[in-house]
Amino acid sequence: MPYVCLHCKREIKTLEKNFVRCPYCGYRVMSKKRSSLAKEVSTD
Ligand SMILES: [Zn+2]
Repeated sequence: MPYVCLHCKREIKTLEKNFVRCPYCGYRVMSKKRSSLAKEVSTD
């Protein structure tokens, strides 16, 4: 499932278990793209 970085709004398609940061800006809060009510996912 694609995620969107809440910081730079880029789409992250390859979010893996051990890679929970945005590869573009390093931000660690993502939202699931498909959800209309975006659930925030904090990795901390
Ligand atoms: Zn980002």
